Amino acid sequence: MKKNRFGERLAAFRERLAERKLDAAVVFGQANVNGLTGVDCDNACLLVSAGGSRADAVFYTDFRYVPAVERTAPWVKVGDIRKLLGEKPLKVRGFSFGRVGYESDISKARFDRLRKVFPGARFVDIAKDIRELRAVKTPWEIECLRAAERLNDEIWRDARKSFKAGMTEKDMARVIRHLMIERGDGEAFATIVCVGRNAAECHHVPDDTVWNGREPVLVDMGVKLDGYCSDMTRNIVPPRQSRLYRKVYDLVLAANELGIRSVRPGITGGQLDGIVRRFLRKNGFGKEFGHSLGHGVGMEIHEAPAAAKKVETVLRPGMSVTIEPGVYLVGSLGVRIEDLVVVTETGCEVLSHSEK
Ligand code: ZN
Ligand code: ZN
Repeated sequence: MKKNRFGERLAAFRERLAERKLDAAVVFGQANVNGLTGVDCDNACLLVSAGGSRADAVFYTDFRYVPAVERTAPWVKVGDIRKLLGEKPLKVRGFSFGRVGYESDISKARFDRLRKVFPGARFVDIAKDIRELRAVKTPWEIECLRAAERLNDEIWRDARKSFKAGMTEKDMARVIRHLMIERGDGEAFATIVCVGRNAAECHHVPDDTVWNGREPVLVDMGVKLDGYCSDMTRNIVPPRQSRLYRKVYDLVLAANELGIRSVRPGITGGQLDGIVRRFLRKNGFGKEFGHSLGHGVGMEIHEAPAAAKKVETVLRPGMSVTIEPGVYLVGSLGVRIEDLVVVTETGCEVLSHSEK
């Protein structure tokens, strides 16, 4: 039988349901279903019963995806999603539906249908529980993240060799995008390329701005590989930059390194963000760091844990998080340096290896 790479997470999910005194849960979110079964499918509803040795999981989908479910997750039963969400109430033996977990971000239409499927059930939001479970990566997932980040490094190394004065931001983004399609599974998100002062806008969309070869270029990129994302930001810094640019660059680099040094199990996402934020503030660029320090990366480009103000999520071994401080001076310049790390027992492993 095929190895169940998500068996432990599904078991932990069932335990969580039992702890929360839920009888079952219905999961619709594509990445959530994927993170519990390994099946990436845009028309799915996973029904999971809580605890017990006779615990069941039923993967409701339509005929297009049945072969993929049977191949990837042969341990789940397969059901017809049209029947589940049809007019007649569901009848599945072995399940009881007093308290049912669900993701509160589903559409109202879906929720209304669920209330018909489970008449009289009390619905409890479990979106956060799934997010927390998915935040801790399995060893196999960490290997996937390593491979994706390694490929991202290679693509960056080769792409920048072909960057020349006269190219536009769009040209450079296209070079990166093509390499990602050739060597990986495409972009994990739309590549960001910012020439010169465009970098002051932290999520600038590449346009027809021409690079003169002397200005700095900020590139934020991530290739997707075998279902997992990568994420890294680097800057091309030609010689003879202004004193201000070099000062900001050195400061952001020091902030990035401080962030990486500060990652360890037990620290919260808020504390980690705070350490780097205070450092930039102390050095005169607090207000210019307008976004949060980082985010988890996995099947999705933005996952838990967030490294941001007030976040109380405690970092644990196996969690991934980006460290991406930035300083943006509107109309003048912008620098961001981003690495992806995985929390280990003693600190973290840095997955991005491109020169900074
Ligand atoms: Zn990024
Ligand atoms: Zn990022």
